[in-house]
Amino acid sequence: MNYDLAEHRHRFAVWAAARAAQRGFTTVGNLRQALESTDIRAFLATPQSFHVSAAEFDTVHRGWCSSIVSSLSHHQIANVSFGRAAKLVAVYLKATVIMGEGWNSSLGHNLHPPIDRILLQGLASSKRITSPHKVAWPSINWTQLNESAYFDLIVQLRRYSRKHAVLTGAQSADAMLYDPMPGGSGLLEQLCARFADIAAAAKQVLEGCPSICERSCVDCLQTFRNGFYHRYLDRHTGAARLAEWGDAIVSEHPIPARYPSVEPSREEMPVNRAEALFRHLLTRAGMPEPEWHKQIDLGRPLNTTAPDCFWPVDEEPGLCLYMDGLSGHIHGKPATRERDRAIRETLRSMQYEVVEISATQLHDREAMVRHFSRIARILIGKDRAKGLRDDESWYQVPQST
Ligand SMILES: [Zn+2]
Repeated sequence: MNYDLAEHRHRFAVWAAARAAQRGFTTVGNLRQALESTDIRAFLATPQSFHVSAAEFDTVHRGWCSSIVSSLSHHQIANVSFGRAAKLVAVYLKATVIMGEGWNSSLGHNLHPPIDRILLQGLASSKRITSPHKVAWPSINWTQLNESAYFDLIVQLRRYSRKHAVLTGAQSADAMLYDPMPGGSGLLEQLCARFADIAAAAKQVLEGCPSICERSCVDCLQTFRNGFYHRYLDRHTGAARLAEWGDAIVSEHPIPARYPSVEPSREEMPVNRAEALFRHLLTRAGMPEPEWHKQIDLGRPLNTTAPDCFWPVDEEPGLCLYMDGLSGHIHGKPATRERDRAIRETLRSMQYEVVEISATQLHDREAMVRHFSRIARILIGKDRAKGLRDDESWYQVPQST
């Protein structure tokens, strides 16, 4: 087993969480098992998870707590409640996210606090809080909260903490709309001007799914573009938020337009031509033959990736090479770029070496010498890497390309 910092942190967080949720309830072992029955670890191992919104977080949180409740009930443990499951999750995330690198992420800002009598009494007695709900807080027993009572409380606490964040000058926004087209397509202005129509259409999509699905499906919210977020989409949460927010929109902070700093300098190259040229350079440089388009399993939600080239590396998972800017690929769209970035970050976190080459660099001697020297250092050693730098005669682009 890989006993690294993440494993230490996980074990400590499980222990702390189990102790906090315990209180005459059940053993640390049972609580650990219940927590590990969820996909919370896999979720935290995915970089994209740190960008979740409050609504997205609530959806995954609901799923975790439900599986904790059913895991504990399955073992016939008495007094199982959503409130106890939520406490377990809250302390676990406090120890992993808030006390880790993710404290200032969107996830860090959207976590639920560990709820107990001391917190609720403290908030209720604070003069700065004017919530009409606060009189009820001291008498809430967190160990007996059911799912809906728990989320009612979270909504009340969030409303307070949002105002608080504004008072302290924190940077946060409820929503951001942006137009990916350089110069703007003009759609944003229309969208804001006709927001009531947009909200009505959205309501119809959310409430009128022809498949009457439980959360989301291809007939309502799921499209190719949002494939990366399918597991977070919940049309009922969406409908509830829409009802809560109403159909008016107010623009508060216009963000000035930004243009790409680098223009694409060359037309995109067909895949087979780029691959042929790259293969030719690999042979001339004396590199080992790679595996082309090998499938690598990344687990959920990214599933698999197939780098253009893959080489096994001693004592390590291997070296993945991606060639970007090929016309046969669909790089360049924001959603695809974001997914590519997440895949490569995940590979690096799994100890793969990742090299990214843009197709236009195939014609750039300096860039290719740099890339090949790095690949050679990983695959065939420092000396051969130096050889490729000292004698660049291997770099030769045939006239036909
Ligand atoms: Zn549906």
